[in-house]
Amino acid sequence: MKLTKEQPKQKETTVVHEYLDEVFNTVLQRNPGEEEFHQAVASFFKSLVPILEKHPIYMEKGILEQLVEPERVISFRVPWVDDSGKINVNRGFRVQFNSAIGPYKGGLRFHPTVNLSVVKFLGFNQVFKNSLTGLPIGGGKGGADFDPKGKSDNEIMRFCQSFMTELAKHIGPDIDIPAGDIGVGAKEIGYMFGQYKRMAGASHTGVLTGKGINYGGSLGRKEATGYGAVYFVREMLKHKGATINNSTFVVSGSGNVSIYAMEKAIELGAKVVACSDSNGYIYDENGIDLYLVKQIKEVHSDRISEYVKYHPEAKYVDDSTGIWSIPCDVVLPCATQNEISEEAAKQLVANGVKVIAEGANMPSTAEAVNVFVNNEIMYAPAKAVNAGGVAVSSLEMAQNSMRLSWNFGAVDEQLQEIMTKIYHNCVTSAKEYGHKDNLLIGANIAGFIKVADTMIEQGVI
Ligand code: GLU
Repeated sequence: MKLTKEQPKQKETTVVHEYLDEVFNTVLQRNPGEEEFHQAVASFFKSLVPILEKHPIYMEKGILEQLVEPERVISFRVPWVDDSGKINVNRGFRVQFNSAIGPYKGGLRFHPTVNLSVVKFLGFNQVFKNSLTGLPIGGGKGGADFDPKGKSDNEIMRFCQSFMTELAKHIGPDIDIPAGDIGVGAKEIGYMFGQYKRMAGASHTGVLTGKGINYGGSLGRKEATGYGAVYFVREMLKHKGATINNSTFVVSGSGNVSIYAMEKAIELGAKVVACSDSNGYIYDENGIDLYLVKQIKEVHSDRISEYVKYHPEAKYVDDSTGIWSIPCDVVLPCATQNEISEEAAKQLVANGVKVIAEGANMPSTAEAVNVFVNNEIMYAPAKAVNAGGVAVSSLEMAQNSMRLSWNFGAVDEQLQEIMTKIYHNCVTSAKEYGHKDNLLIGANIAGFIKVADTMIEQGVI
C-alpha cells in the first residue's frame, strides 16, 4: 500500500516515500484490521515527509519503526456483577505507548466501541499531543468496552473497582498516570482512586488525574480541554486579524469537552447555535442556553432532545451527523472519532466555514481533512487543539508532588500560556518545513521532533 499517490521526483523524496511506505506496510501487517490505528499513523507519516528529507538521521536511527510499536500493551478481563446478580465480563486495555519524555500519561475511555485499534490510535496521538504541551509526559491510553449508559451508580462503582484491580499492577505516579476520556469523569476516577488506594495501602495522590477537588484534583481540570480549544481558536483568528466576538460556532457533542468549549466561546462573545449527542442535535438560532444543557447533561445525564421541551423555538433533529449542515464561522467537533465525513466537510466548506478546530480526538476522516486542507480552510488537528486537558492534568501532577493546590486563575493563566505556545510552535514548524499555515503538518512535526530527539539522546535499549 502507498501512502501518497503522486510520483515523487527528487532523490531525497523518493527515499523518504519508500521508507515511509515500508514502515507503514509493517504497521498494516503487524496490526491487521486496526483501521483507526492505521488512519492515525498514515496521517502522521504524511506530515513527516519534509522533516525526513531535511534530517535523514531519523530514518537512520529507526525512529519511526520504534514509534509505531507501543512499549507495552496490556489487555485484561474485567468481570463484574450487575444489580440483578448477573456476572458480566468486559475487556480492559492499557497501552503504554512511549515514555521517552516522561511517564505514560493519557485517559481511559469507557465506551462500547473501545477495542485495541481505538486505544492504539488514541495512545499514538497522545504521545505527540503530550510532547506539544511542553511538559514532561510520555503517552498512553486505556479503557474498556463497557457502556456506562443506563448503568446504576453501584454498577459503575463495581465495574471501576474491578477494572482498577488489574490496572493497579501497571500504573503509579512515576510510571503511568491515567485520567478520564469519554465515559470517564470525576465520578469514575473517584471509584478507581478509592480502589487503587485500598490495594496500595497508601495514598499515592498523583496516580490518577481528573480527581475530585477534595483529594488532590486541580481546579480548572474539568474546563481545561474545552477552554484550551477555544484559546487555540482565539490564536488562529488573531493570526488573521479576527476575533471570536460575534462569530457563530457549531460545537458537536455535549460532554465535558463540548460544554466547556461552548462556555468559553460564549464568554468571548460567540454565538453557539448547535450542539449534539449520539442520538441527534439541537439548533437554536438565538444561541444555545448553556445553563439548560448543563442541567440536562451534567445533573440529569439525560438526552439533548430534552432541550426543546424548555425552548420550543429551537429545533431537535434525530440524526447527530446533520449538525454539519448548519452554516457557521467556526466548527468545533467535540464528540468522537470520524464524526466528520468527506460529504460533511464539503458541505461545511460550501457553507463558508472559516475555522475547524478539533476538540475530540481524530473527529475528521482522512478524506474530510483533505477537503479542509485543499480548500485552505483554517484547520487545526486534535493533538494541538485539545492538548489543554492533558496539560492541566500535568499541572495536577505538579500540584500533587508539591502537596499544594493552586487557585483557578493560576491554572487558567498557565493553560492560556500553554495553548498560545502550542499554536506558535505549530506555525513556526510548518513554516520552517515549507508548509506555511498548515497546522496539521506543523503540529505533527513539532510533536515529533521532541520525542524523536529524546529517543536518540537516550539510545536504543
Ligand atoms: N483524555 C484526554 C486526552 O485525550 C486527557 C488525558 C489526560 O488528562 O491524561 O488528551
